[in-house]
Formats: sequence, structure tokens, C-alpha cells
Amino acid sequence: MSLTNSMELIRVMPSPRGYTWVVAPGGVAKVSRQITSTSELSEQEVGYMEASGLTRVSESNVFHATVLTATDCNLGCGYCFQNTGVNPDRPFAPDRIPGTKLDPSTVDDIALFIKRAVVHANASSISMVLFGGEPLLDFDSCLRVLDTTQEVAPVEAVMVTNGVLMTPGRAARLEETGLRAVQVTLDGDRKRHDATRHTRNGRGTYDLICQNIAGVQESTSVAICLRVNILPDDPDSYVKMLLDIAGKVDPQQTFVDLSPVRDYSWNESSALRDGSARDLIKSLVEIAEVSKRLGFRLARPASRFCPFCSIADGKRGAVIGPDGSLYSSWQAAGRPEFRLGNVRDGYIQSVIEDRWVTCRQFDARSCSEAGDSTWSDYFDGAIMDLTWDLVAAPGQFH
Ligand code: SF4
Repeated sequence: MSLTNSMELIRVMPSPRGYTWVVAPGGVAKVSRQITSTSELSEQEVGYMEASGLTRVSESNVFHATVLTATDCNLGCGYCFQNTGVNPDRPFAPDRIPGTKLDPSTVDDIALFIKRAVVHANASSISMVLFGGEPLLDFDSCLRVLDTTQEVAPVEAVMVTNGVLMTPGRAARLEETGLRAVQVTLDGDRKRHDATRHTRNGRGTYDLICQNIAGVQESTSVAICLRVNILPDDPDSYVKMLLDIAGKVDPQQTFVDLSPVRDYSWNESSALRDGSARDLIKSLVEIAEVSKRLGFRLARPASRFCPFCSIADGKRGAVIGPDGSLYSSWQAAGRPEFRLGNVRDGYIQSVIEDRWVTCRQFDARSCSEAGDSTWSDYFDGAIMDLTWDLVAAPGQFH
């Protein structure tokens, strides 16, 4: 895809209040009637969006890099997208993608690859995601990646971690090298969370994660994004969790990202397919309203543009495995069938067409009761209502 107008990156999010949010790469517009697809926009509305730059993916001076420091994990979540099978002899430790860790020479190769990419993209800074498995299984490599790439260009980093090893001391050390935010996941109240996000020998992790989040907030300025994985069957569990954690952390400094769980093996959730999408949306909206009342900040829904996979030439971003392999999206990382080359030799042009997968292709979500909008678009329409004050001057259609 070139950096030109792109209607396919627009999300149409019907609001329960009867209008529609149109979230595009270049901004947000509000349509005063309910629509479920961009095909329902009039010629005049599309013309307005194009003329005002909403549909345009603009040039950027930021290069995006996701680096996996380890593909192993200390937890054994049954729904993990990196699981490859179930082992009845080890109920808490599903089979996973092959385990690999970064070594120092690969860190140097990654830094060199990023340096070339930064120059090629004419970028002046790097937005880094440290990812795994569990990235903190190799804390030294996390530091080394940040230290080494800081020599290329200024780095602002986010770490996606399960939070078990994210002690205040580690967070403070990482903050010195560019860490600005961590994303940590909770699956509901202690009982609910510990049933799914347990160690690979079955121990619960809720209390330790809450303690670590509170400690990180007390001793650093690292922002916390609390991803809440939601299954449709027990909405009260999430409200209980929010009430509990609001007493332990600073809600004003905590973003909440409500994320219904998809089953990544492979890849539609039977619970969502067979359940009622409308009931799920209603529960999700209630949980979002409680989050807002408690003072948490709600993560704002985005368009379909992804700096890693929307542009199939690696110009704006790269996903890099611990052995230096290149992928198009983090969901594909560590899977040999999606490998696109490596940081030493670059992309293998002949495999890009077949193996380039976008995060949207991994994101099989459906709502049989809606037109082109999926159930998650309906949910995000309600979230847009709750966060509308954060949307700078949306365009209006009447
Ligand atoms: S913590 Fe994350 S990477 Fe580890 S098993 Fe759970 S979902 Fe997978």
C-alpha cells in the first residue's frame, strides 16, 4: 500500500445513541445517522473526508520496531496466540512456538538493521515495542536493545509484559533507557484471573501483578496500560476487579483497554460465535462505564491503520524475532511459516506476497446481527461515546 488515500483503513463504529463514528487514519468524523459500512457513506461525505485529509495515511518521521526478546513465557495461558497444542499431561503448560532468546550479537545486528531502516524511512525517532513471550525473561537483552538503538535515534519504548517480573527496580532501570509505558493484562478478579493467567505449574499471579503495578507507579513515571481480557460469561468479575484495583493503583495514571478474548487456536472464539453478541456488547459497555466512573482512562479505539503491517514493504515498521527473523505482524512472530527474512540479509522479496499477513487477518471477529460492522465495531462505537472528549474536534456530517 502506498501512502495515499485508503478507504479500507477506515472503521465504521455505530454508536448506541443512533449516530456513527467514522475513525480514519487521518482523524475522526461523526455521521448523524446509523450506518454499518463505508459503502453507505454518500459521495459528498467521502469527498469531505478526502478533502479534509481524514482518509490519508500521512508521512511520518517515526520508525516503529517491535522486538521479541524471548519467545518463552513463564505463564501458561490457555488462550495464548503462541500456543501450538494442548498437552493433557501438563494442563497448566500448553505447547508453545519454539523457544528462542536474543543473544548479544543478534542485538547488534538488530540495531544495524534498524539504523538502515531509519535512514531509508528518513525517520528521526524510533517507537519501540518490547514483546515476547515474556520479554522480562531476558531483562539484560531488553536493556541492551534499548541502549543500542538509542545510539541510532531517540527511542520511546512500550513493553508488553505479563507483569509478574516487572518489579519497580526493573521498571526504573528500563525507564532510564527509554521505557515510557508497560501494558499488563488482568483477566478479571483474583479467582477469574488466576484460573487463566497462571504460572506453568499452576500458581496464580493476580496479587503479584497488582503489587508490581502499584510499585511501578510509585517509583517511576512509566505509564500503565491495563489490558483487561474479557470472556462473555461473567461480567461481574471485571467490575469486582476494577473496584479492587482502583484501591491499589492510581486510576488517573492507568489506561484501561477492554479486550474481548479471541481464541487464537485458530482463530474464532466459539464462545463469541455461539453466544449473543448484543449481550456481550451490553456487558462490555457496562464495564467501560464503571472504569470511567472509577477515574480510569479508557483507551480510545483506532482506525485499521497499523504502522507494521498496513504497508507491505517494511518501510514504516518491522517486527523482529529473538533470532533476528523478520515478520509482518506480532501475531505472526515466531511462526516459521510467516518468516520474511532476517535482520542480516533483509526481506526476501519473493516470499513477501505469500507470507505478509496483517493483524486484521488474525483478528477473526464477527457479529451475525450486523452488516459490515463487526460486534467489536459496535462496542467501540460505545467506547467512542465514553471518550469523545478526548477526540479533538471530530468532523461532523448532518
Ligand atoms: S502471558 Fe502472554 S505470552 Fe505468556 S502465555 Fe499468557 S498470553 Fe501467552
